[in-house]
Amino acid sequence: MTLPTTYQKLVVTQSSDRLREAVAVETLPLAAPGADDVLVQTHYTGVNAADYLMAAGRYLAPTPPPFDLGAESTGVVVAVGSGVKTLKEGDAVMALAGGYREYFTVPARRAIPVPAPTPDMLALGVSGLTASIALEECGRMTQGETVLVTAAAGGTGSFAVQLAKLAGNRVIGTCSSDDKVDFLRGLGCDRPVNYKAEKLSQVLKTEFPQGVDIAFESVGGSLFDTCVNALAIKGRLIVIGAISEYERGPELVTAPRIYYKLLQKSASLHGFWLMHAFRQMADHAARLIALMQQGRLVAALDSTDFYGVAGALEAIEHLYAGRNTGKVVVRFA
Ligand code: NAP
Repeated sequence: MTLPTTYQKLVVTQSSDRLREAVAVETLPLAAPGADDVLVQTHYTGVNAADYLMAAGRYLAPTPPPFDLGAESTGVVVAVGSGVKTLKEGDAVMALAGGYREYFTVPARRAIPVPAPTPDMLALGVSGLTASIALEECGRMTQGETVLVTAAAGGTGSFAVQLAKLAGNRVIGTCSSDDKVDFLRGLGCDRPVNYKAEKLSQVLKTEFPQGVDIAFESVGGSLFDTCVNALAIKGRLIVIGAISEYERGPELVTAPRIYYKLLQKSASLHGFWLMHAFRQMADHAARLIALMQQGRLVAALDSTDFYGVAGALEAIEHLYAGRNTGKVVVRFA
């Protein structure tokens, strides 16, 4: 295959809360992969809430600029290093690597083979794996329980809703519009709650008096507080993120320490960060792909088109405006 001599990518050049001031488009020579690496042509890149935090310099593990923006991509292997035996040119892969760039290099052991480089396969990456691993390991999810998912109509939440339903649970999902309520119903969510039209705490008190066994929580702020208060005896609250605080920074609160509320219910609070789960990824990815191939799980994709390095910023802004339904993706090839 003839490769171009250069490619473009989006780089964070200075940390800033103003996304467009933090980044620059760079054009670089396309290099051959190292001995244990593969070079991949990007077909789709996933948009994540963490992108904004990274550009602002407030991500969980802040990296000093310059660094590439973006966390996950799917594409086709176009060159392999001399030591790579597991992949060959033409293979489709998904990786928690790459980002908003036309080509990326990744160690072959970190590239997960997928049937095709589609948006569906991309969505299985950060979003699908986070939902799958966190619900199983931190939520200790079984069946017959009540599971509350916040930002349920988003990229990560839409997987959590479906996986909790597939396991045989009752699922409550929060979102911000009636269109998203309809979308969540379509995913099988038993009780979608538009938090702009209904008070979640009241819905939970009235309709779920026994409490919530698992809360898959990624919005933070007062929604987190509502989830803590709604936990059932032995409930598990999984802290996935706190998007409501990403733009303005953490809110400082004064209240009795949370252990009083946890003790009262023998409840637990469990942080989950996908970067600590590399060991489990291949297994969960295989399971998610199988469920999709059986038609039992769908990758819910946002319908707005974004294209190339230039489209990435619009895509991140779209997600932060809460306009997305499902996973936001940027198309490259
Ligand atoms: P997403 O859910 O596709 O999109 C973000 C959604 O958050 C919006 O559509 C919006 O939907 C909701 N939201 C609620 N309050 C918001 C606010 N104040 N500002 C903006 N959006 C708000 O995004 P995602 O990338 O999948 O991430 C969702 C959450 O999961 C984030 O907190 C992210 O950090 C976290 N996450 C964590 C991990 C991990 O490893 N721990 C991995 C993936 C994602 P509605 O308002 O309609 O609900």
